[in-house]
Amino acid sequence: MELDDDIDEGESYSEHVDIDSARKIIFDLLKAVGEDPDREGLRNTPDRVARMYTELLSGYNADPAKIINGALFNINYDEMVLVRDIEFYSLCEHHMLPFIGRAHVAYLPAGKVIGLSKIPRIVDMYARRLQIQERMTRQIADLLQTTLQPQGVAVVIEGMHLCSMMRGVKKHDARMTTSATHGAFRANLATRQEFLDNISRGSKPLQI
Ligand SMILES: [Zn+2]
Repeated sequence: MELDDDIDEGESYSEHVDIDSARKIIFDLLKAVGEDPDREGLRNTPDRVARMYTELLSGYNADPAKIINGALFNINYDEMVLVRDIEFYSLCEHHMLPFIGRAHVAYLPAGKVIGLSKIPRIVDMYARRLQIQERMTRQIADLLQTTLQPQGVAVVIEGMHLCSMMRGVKKHDARMTTSATHGAFRANLATRQEFLDNISRGSKPLQI
């Protein structure tokens, strides 16, 4: 038996990726870059990579309604709800290389809150697509705005982009911060400041 820690990879994600053609394309890509796809170390690589994409790109299949799945609660609470340091892994759509980092998500409820575990799952749903960080930030904010209709939403994402880091010259661009806001976080300086103070308190610089 082959010892392969990737063996279970992508098991439950396979619906939307055409594994056969992805496998063939990876095989051809290996040839195109001058490799021998038939040598021992690469023999299972096309299959492994094809299946990996079913997992890394599983966000296309995710249905926000299913993720939220009744975890909305009517409650009389109007203070800021903040989930910070949500780890994420995404792929940049320009190079298909990873960008990884953390997301901070806050909202000011207006009668409705969402189950705490749902926010990281929403981040994951958008991260597991070919993305640019700016759009991902906006999508998270927009979904929460639509779903919760709160007084406001703020999302800040810090990401490190391997396409900048690995390709040498522009290493200083590797770390990027993006933000998207709605409502009170946009209109009210004190609310925005409270959010920024909260996410910077005790935080360490993003590192790989
Ligand atoms: Zn890129």
